[in-house]
Amino acid sequence: MRSLITGGAGFIGSYLAEELLRQGHDVSMIDDLSTGSIENIEHLKRQYGILKDGVLARQRGLSVVASGNARFQYTIDTVMNVPLLAELVDQCDVVYHLAAAVGVKLIVESPVRTIETNVRGTEVVLELANKKKKKVFLASTSEVYGKASKIPFSEDDDLVIGPTVKGRWAYACSKALDEFLAIAYWKEKRLPVVVVRLFNTVGPRQTGQYGMVLPNFVRQALAGEPITVYGDGTQSRSFTYVEDVVDALIKLAMCDRAVGQVFNVGNGTEVTIGDLARKVKSIAKSNSEIQYVPYSQVYGAGFEDMPRRVPDIRKIRDYIEWEPQVQLEEIIRRVIHHYSDRV
Ligand code: UDP
Repeated sequence: MRSLITGGAGFIGSYLAEELLRQGHDVSMIDDLSTGSIENIEHLKRQYGILKDGVLARQRGLSVVASGNARFQYTIDTVMNVPLLAELVDQCDVVYHLAAAVGVKLIVESPVRTIETNVRGTEVVLELANKKKKKVFLASTSEVYGKASKIPFSEDDDLVIGPTVKGRWAYACSKALDEFLAIAYWKEKRLPVVVVRLFNTVGPRQTGQYGMVLPNFVRQALAGEPITVYGDGTQSRSFTYVEDVVDALIKLAMCDRAVGQVFNVGNGTEVTIGDLARKVKSIAKSNSEIQYVPYSQVYGAGFEDMPRRVPDIRKIRDYIEWEPQVQLEEIIRRVIHHYSDRV
């Protein structure tokens, strides 16, 4: 089996590639390095061998399809390069479509890029996969639930999106459209698709550059800088360890019954952001102060956050008997360990 991972040099994509390779699959990836990084896949290049041409070509401003027998291949380009993606899709058995604009900071600052990357990118992937009827795995997000207030969130719940003048909701809406399109390809054209809604995936290697809370808190705690809690810290999230997420994705991809379905992938344990800051500070044995920063100062006037976000995971439990294994304190310890020699 050869899996194609779009966004493979991103945080989740790189863990997915590693696990697929470990299980004996071949992996190709495409990433434009907009938010991903070669550093995330250095260890895979060393362990499984790659064609160096991709790097050379990039230096010359070209893009190439890696060829040859390497179990692991990567190409630096965007999924919007249709001829290139068509070739990569042809060579694989299943597509994990993870390439997307992510991170609240990026989304608020670059709404056009967010919408175009998420909508057009998914259109291209589905259209090409459909020509060869290659199974597509679409990574969506818990953000699609928007401001829904029924907790926990179940896959069949209504999605409650905010007004179009507020940039944040463009992300939720663009990913919801991706989901509609994927399900439509299944219903109308019998393209096998599986949609997953990921709930705040975290772990070592995640960057805080695009606003993600845990790597930011850990970096601040280790550097002795103030830990910046946005708003009053009563908003909550459910953090899921990246290896648990990858385990769910691979098992769902193997599950025939999952085709045409949407699944929450998340850890049901809820924590407020204020408590998260206190936990990080305590586990890192940090002297940092916890500083409360108004949302408007970070994301501009009128920014709307979700007060709570908790997954109902009964469906995925029923389909593949999946249960998250790594809990929050241990996740924090692992992220601290990862960053402790980098600060
Ligand atoms: N957050 C925070 N401090 C930070 C970064 C984020 O308090 O330095 C908050 C953010 O406002 C949100 C939560 O942490 O309420 C999770 O933010 P993140 O961007 O990681 O993910 P989201 O769930 O909002 O997509």
